[in-house]
Amino acid sequence: MSPPRLVDFHCHLDLYPNPDTAFAEQESAAVYTLAVTTTPRAWPRNKELTHKARYVRAALGLHPQVVAERFHELQLWERYLPDARYVGEVGLDAGPTHHRSLALQRRLFLRILQLCAEVGDRILSVHSVRATSDVLDLLEAHLPPDRGRVVLHWFTGTKADVQRAVAMGCYFSVNAAMLSSERHRVLVAALPGDRLLTETDGPFIKSGQTTRIDQLRRTVEDLALLRSMDAESTAALILANMRRLVSTV
Ligand code: MN
Repeated sequence: MSPPRLVDFHCHLDLYPNPDTAFAEQESAAVYTLAVTTTPRAWPRNKELTHKARYVRAALGLHPQVVAERFHELQLWERYLPDARYVGEVGLDAGPTHHRSLALQRRLFLRILQLCAEVGDRILSVHSVRATSDVLDLLEAHLPPDRGRVVLHWFTGTKADVQRAVAMGCYFSVNAAMLSSERHRVLVAALPGDRLLTETDGPFIKSGQTTRIDQLRRTVEDLALLRSMDAESTAALILANMRRLVSTV
């Protein structure tokens, strides 16, 4: 039997110097990939690059870090939504550089959640830097679990936030950088096995010369170690989680 496929559920393939190559690499390595975007302007090209893809799916995004300049793109985002089963990167960022636009970010994210709930059956990759409980509040109020599914990307909340997110049915995509922090390792170790996914968040995580695939393999091995499992069953678990997540609601 061949080893289970890898999953990269949050990667900015279109932000690599050569996006066409980046998309082709994920396909030829058979890595199940969610290609997130930061602006709906990138949607047509990303959709086109995944047109015949077997492993890569495009997500319709409007990143919280660009909301200050791009709030008006909500209209464009809304126009493409009927065509997009996957949504991301969306969410809130209350870090020092972006907290000034937080009120605007909240308005936008709230509207995105309402629209997703209206159309139903959407899968979201959600950013929550320094805004974990804020994000969970909005998700709880505006996206009922039977109207959409949520993957918390690079989630680093408190233990209570994690418990709350788990109770709300969220999944978690874990990357190599998260596992290099002792505090985050403790959080990840406590996540239920059936909610775990892996991601690279490429090209934002700098990892020297290693490829995305090497990073994913290392993340799986690290998760296996944290959970006292072997790497192969951990990879199989992540693949099964991804399949359950994307199956029709
Ligand atoms: Mn990202």
